[in-house]
Amino acid sequence: MARCRDCGVEIVWARTPRGRNIPLDYRQDDGQGRDLFVIVGGVAVVVREVQRAEVRANGGRLYPPHRRFCRQAARASTRVRKERTA
Ligand SMILES: [Zn+2]
Repeated sequence: MARCRDCGVEIVWARTPRGRNIPLDYRQDDGQGRDLFVIVGGVAVVVREVQRAEVRANGGRLYPPHRRFCRQAARASTRVRKERTA
């Protein structure tokens, strides 16, 4: 079980089709994300909104990217915003 080194929650690693590592969140799909993935053979594949119902109907699992929920990432982006507005 992998954990985020920044915030400590459980994550699952996958690769993008381009071969970069991407941390995905274990929590179930929140249904409102712009980007949700299925993991196919270790590769994170984006599922478009129109395809999500079909994935769910087949018992597939949709993973949101962990970055969206990571507390550390949120803190970092807040810091960036402050620097930009200063
Ligand atoms: Zn995190």
